Amino acid sequence: MKTKFHSWCSGNLSEGCKLCVKGRKLVLFITGLCGQRCWYCPISEEKFSKDVVYANEWRIKNPDNPEELFKEAELTEAKGAGITGGDPLMRIERCCLYIKQLKQKYGKQFHIHLYTPLKLVTKERLQKLYDAGLDEIRFHPNLDDDVLWNNLELAQDYCWATGIEIPAIPEYGEKTKRLIDFIAGKINFINLNELEHSDTLASHYSLDERGYRTKDNISYGIRGSKEIGLEMLEYAQTKGVPAHFCTAKLKDAVQLTNRIKIRATNAGLSFDIKTTEGMLVRGIAYLPELKPEFGYRKKLEQANKQEMLKKLRELKTKIMPFSNVVIDENKLRLILPAKEIRKSSRAIKQLGAIPAIVEEYPTHDATETEITFL
Ligand code: SF4
Repeated sequence: MKTKFHSWCSGNLSEGCKLCVKGRKLVLFITGLCGQRCWYCPISEEKFSKDVVYANEWRIKNPDNPEELFKEAELTEAKGAGITGGDPLMRIERCCLYIKQLKQKYGKQFHIHLYTPLKLVTKERLQKLYDAGLDEIRFHPNLDDDVLWNNLELAQDYCWATGIEIPAIPEYGEKTKRLIDFIAGKINFINLNELEHSDTLASHYSLDERGYRTKDNISYGIRGSKEIGLEMLEYAQTKGVPAHFCTAKLKDAVQLTNRIKIRATNAGLSFDIKTTEGMLVRGIAYLPELKPEFGYRKKLEQANKQEMLKKLRELKTKIMPFSNVVIDENKLRLILPAKEIRKSSRAIKQLGAIPAIVEEYPTHDATETEITFL
């Protein structure tokens, strides 16, 4: 059955997915460490093999302090969280701490699910997650090697939802069927994700070398993934396993869009223009040394924050009387209403700054989609 979210399912969606499609799940990336090394691993280079924590797009600087995590949950009006990685079990204590903190702050009904490969699954670790309050666990077995599949059975001793989450890989039909046969009667659901291409995949694991191509020029979805996904969905149905095939479009056009629309409402400034897609259009005055161009992210990371903030404060004072000038401490720039920066672009240039109209995501990293220098 096709859902209204550009996906297909047999049976009901899992609780975790129901909140996810509404954009109400906080994506909690708990660590980039992982020992499994799947050839299709989609983790970006800035996270892969690094022990970093992100709440959605927000890099959490101090993982021991939950304040930034709570702030992101509130800005996106999250009703639950999905813990991902890497292999979250590499940082089991951190997982348990966050589960407890989120449940304590937002109540028992704040639904938390966690994805994990099977490598580190033990009774002791599952017990810890269960005691912390985890609601749903999703395993990511190695389709090329069934040696650890029995670990799945350890999860049956607990009163939580259990699932399988794997990519739908063309030419892996028989391997996927073997897994479905194995999990029938043991696991509550299977989620098949459309296999996606990314620059990271191309560089690390060379999806290209295996002959996989995107289905067209505008999608990251791999040709043949949807077909095998739907075939596996039907197969799972014959085995009594509820299944969901989740497309690249669902993640992009539904889940992410819903989340950023909520965040735009809560995190945008009162004068920002909000587009129907949830983007923010605003005026920006950049310091010349932090002009967005090649290597911008690196420049921001390496900038002397205190020195830049001092310059921004001075600049702000000079471009008064515009009362609506906000110092962006995260990206070290001034934010103004778009129409005011248009009017005063010449004056701002004379002060040595660079005026621009910017359209960007309302996310913590405020990724720009369009910059027009004035
Ligand atoms: S288990 Fe996940 S994070 Fe680890 S290598 Fe596989 S896809 Fe990447």
